[in-house]
Amino acid sequence: MNILVLNAGSSSIKAAVINPISGKRFLELTADNLLDQPTLQFSDGTTTPLSKTGHEHALKVCLTALEEKLSDTKLAGVGHRVVHGGEAFDGPVRITDEVEGQIAALSPLAPLHNPVNLSGIRAARKQFSDLDHFAIFDTAFHQSMPRRAKTYALPKELIEQYGIRRYGFHGTSHQYVAQRAAEYLQNDLRNLRIITCHLGNGCSVAAIEFGRSVETSMGMTPLEGLVMGTRSGDIDPGLFAYLREQSGLSTNEVETMLNRESGLLGLSGKSNDMRTILAAATNGDPDCQLALQVFTHRLRKYIGAYTAVMGGVDAIVFTGGIGENSAVIRHRAVQRMDYLGAVIYEESNTAIQLTEDQPVGEFHVRHSRVSLLVIKTDEQLAIARDCHKLLEKADEVNTLPVIPVAVSARHAHLTRATLDTLYGVGYELTVKKWLSQPGQFAAEETITVVGPRNTIERVRILGPLRSKDQIEVSRTDEFFLGIDAPIRESGKVANTPGCKIIGPAGSVTIKDGLICAWRHIHMTPAEAIQFGVQDRDVVEVAVGSPDRPVIFGNVLIRVSDQYKLEMHIDTDEGNAAEINTGDEGVLTLTGRTGTLRKRRVENRVV
Ligand code: AMP
Repeated sequence: MNILVLNAGSSSIKAAVINPISGKRFLELTADNLLDQPTLQFSDGTTTPLSKTGHEHALKVCLTALEEKLSDTKLAGVGHRVVHGGEAFDGPVRITDEVEGQIAALSPLAPLHNPVNLSGIRAARKQFSDLDHFAIFDTAFHQSMPRRAKTYALPKELIEQYGIRRYGFHGTSHQYVAQRAAEYLQNDLRNLRIITCHLGNGCSVAAIEFGRSVETSMGMTPLEGLVMGTRSGDIDPGLFAYLREQSGLSTNEVETMLNRESGLLGLSGKSNDMRTILAAATNGDPDCQLALQVFTHRLRKYIGAYTAVMGGVDAIVFTGGIGENSAVIRHRAVQRMDYLGAVIYEESNTAIQLTEDQPVGEFHVRHSRVSLLVIKTDEQLAIARDCHKLLEKADEVNTLPVIPVAVSARHAHLTRATLDTLYGVGYELTVKKWLSQPGQFAAEETITVVGPRNTIERVRILGPLRSKDQIEVSRTDEFFLGIDAPIRESGKVANTPGCKIIGPAGSVTIKDGLICAWRHIHMTPAEAIQFGVQDRDVVEVAVGSPDRPVIFGNVLIRVSDQYKLEMHIDTDEGNAAEINTGDEGVLTLTGRTGTLRKRRVENRVV
């Protein structure tokens, strides 16, 4: 099976024919300088000068040439890189006329990218009309960012009216290298907190907590964040008014300056290419030295910030043209980070030379708690794999059983030691009500939870006792208590806040354990096979009537032969979506919004 991957940009077109399983490339095509002196280059060594400049003409020539060259190669589908997926897309999608319309509608958010991406899609759908086409969005991976990270502190009405928020970009690359890092570390991505630094012509850094992007440096547009080749990254927005008053520059002119004339190019006055900056800085050029300092200072700042956001870090990954090739940048970014557990091994750092066969290198000392890795990114392969997955799912019909939903009220799981202190040594809980999960019960006993702002009384204890104290509250409860607790799966209480809890016989201040429970589905191993999921996968569930379902993304799968099939949401979620215990959900097939297929009535679990 081969996938044609097409990246139609404004100044260049890139294409590759890839086997998504082996990663083998059969053909690559690059058309550079589309606005200037375009030429078409194939990996088989042939080149074709284009007779005209411009995107449309180049696309036509590229696609015709590809079709000719691929006459003997069977293609299974075409994957298109699309920069902006807005709120609408949180994963790859099969392209239909409706999807084309949605991509077009997102053009105001990415005027330089989405229209040209769309021209590529339209031209390719015409040229390869018998194939399935898929869109893979740069923003999709970051859709999992929590609201606190997505939201700019602007007037609410403006935010809502114009869809202003942080979207993040380079998602395909961040996700790909994070997964490669987990494989290299022989760990599950869902156990790791990783900071990925994609440093190429465009640069961004992402915080990937247990497999999900929770922060990234690019924002509503790819201008925010790190210093880049020609982009400024973070600036004070007051600059717009200041420059207009002082120099008469219009908003458009300032925007062009920030996107095209700033970053390494602006600071150095010489080049947007890090190789040139590094060489000139070494030779004493003060402007290039400053450019280098500003670039790496910003990067260090983000690494520190993202470590704080995740409450620690297990691996820091460098990728992209600069990240993969420059030992100096890597050194400047992570030296003196012993305080967070990252200790660089300089010799490995300078020796790393990534190749196709050796796409990962490490450069930490043996006792470093944090792994420092260099990983070759491969967005084209990631796109081909996403297409392959969707092709495999093409014929599936949702015949899965429906999932009963239960709304969980706030509750506490306690250890023997804590119960001894709160209720007296050797105290046994009294069963008030058996719960749907086998062996679990709500006890007659309750505790009082004390936060810095308020106290919540009568928090029900659930039995049986556990090896760790854990108090599960809703977001509303957190604000009431005055505690900022992370969303966590049950049992993962490391790096969570503690609080004081009181019982009739005494009180305890627990060091950690206060969490906002991650919405989840309990199921047996047999059911997991039926649903095609594994323990700790993250899926999407549609709850309510098939015609007007409420979609819950980010639902964690928990598998054990002790469980009974049931989805648990908290009271806030139940209230917001008007869902009550006893309602039913259905797993959406592709885990994406908009792909819900009507569940079949005959498959209802009675
Ligand atoms: P990318 O967008 O990932 O292809 O990265 C392109 C950028 O990587 C170029 O603009 C260079 O600045 C940078 N780059 C490539 N090779 C090196 C190198 N050996 N040292 C430093 N920077 C490099």
